[in-house]
Amino acid sequence: MTTTRFAPSPTGYIHVGNLRTALMNYLIARKAGGTFILRIDDTDPERSKEEYVDAIKQDMEWLGLHWDRIERQSERLDRYADAADKLREMGRFYEAFETPTELDLKRKKQLNMGKPPVYDRAALNLSDAEKEKLRAERGNGVWRFKLDHERIDWTDGILGDISIDAASVSDPVLIRGDGQVLYTIASVVDDTEMGVTDVVRGSDHVTNTATQIQIIEALGGQCPRFAHHSLLTGPQGEALSKRLGTLALRDLREQGVQPMALLSLMARLGSSDPVELRSDIAELIEGFDVNRFGAAPTKFDVQDLFPLTAKHLQSLPLADVADAVADAGVPAELAESFWEMARENITTLGDLKGWWELCRDGAEPLIADEDREFIEEAIALLPEGPFDGETWGTWTKAVKEATGRKGKGLFMPLRKALTGMERGPEMATLLPLLQVIRARG
Ligand code: GLU
Repeated sequence: MTTTRFAPSPTGYIHVGNLRTALMNYLIARKAGGTFILRIDDTDPERSKEEYVDAIKQDMEWLGLHWDRIERQSERLDRYADAADKLREMGRFYEAFETPTELDLKRKKQLNMGKPPVYDRAALNLSDAEKEKLRAERGNGVWRFKLDHERIDWTDGILGDISIDAASVSDPVLIRGDGQVLYTIASVVDDTEMGVTDVVRGSDHVTNTATQIQIIEALGGQCPRFAHHSLLTGPQGEALSKRLGTLALRDLREQGVQPMALLSLMARLGSSDPVELRSDIAELIEGFDVNRFGAAPTKFDVQDLFPLTAKHLQSLPLADVADAVADAGVPAELAESFWEMARENITTLGDLKGWWELCRDGAEPLIADEDREFIEEAIALLPEGPFDGETWGTWTKAVKEATGRKGKGLFMPLRKALTGMERGPEMATLLPLLQVIRARG
């Protein structure tokens, strides 16, 4: 059965880049009728925060990306210790004692000599007595996985055929000197034990994948299918990594971005399929295929989310936005007609308030000198209430007859006088909502 997972580290809020990973894994699982796991990668006790775990869950729920299972790596440490023991028994795990400064020096030397900066495995030659001495002086060493120096090949769902020479990669550290288990092994143990069949993640993980394939094989696990999506860049192709902090999902939510706008964009951006607004997640699942994504960096422009948000909102019935309409201050009896008027004139729900204020308080009238008399005459001709969708037509007809004005010369001064703006909602739908006018009618 298809099983995927989204595995964020709770060291910050999730952003658009994470969302891409989450969504691809989610859609693969749902399309196959499989299982989607939310895995919290919290083996780093210093950097992992409970508040971020809660925030990740809230953000996923806001998007409607529901998980079937939640797992936490901090609750599975004994499994990782077992796997480490196994690797030790197999002779694939060794303790190394170099300090970061020493490693840095080695790397610099290698680079100077034109060699790739790969760990030289000096620790493999240490005798037991030497290790004992180093341990006494420096504390416990780190544990490195001994890669088999052969080529590591896989067919990547996005990148195609990949072949990496293991000799060009340093033996990865899987356990730190203080005993902290690192992601590289924890993830392998989880993916294997949880029966993960498909792993989609960012292309910054390609080298990890190479080493993880060897660890999975050493532990006798089944390798999942891997796909590495490209990283996002800004609209001009500039690196986005530093700005991702400002593209947290909760900030976008604050700015009024709608989940379906975000999901519609991220489920297709960087693929050969066009970005189109979808009305629900089921529609996104239908057309989704991870193999249709390209390897080139994907340009992301936060501004693209707003027209999609506007379009999505336009399609909604009042029932879906009733809370936001009420929060804007609109009385329940006007909610339906207010929404009819406002839906085509907002970008986000945050714009509702402004339209309601216009209805409730009126606007500073915009009246040119030459229109002053005309406006007075027109106001005097306002029909009796109650106002409805016909009122504007009846009224302007009467004004036309009395003043001889027509077309733009008739409508524009009225619009500007009533709304203070040259453009805006249909006057026929707006007029019955203008409370000041109602009071006069
Ligand atoms: N916690 C890892 C990360 O956020 C997960 C990577 C993976 O999907 O394996 O980068």
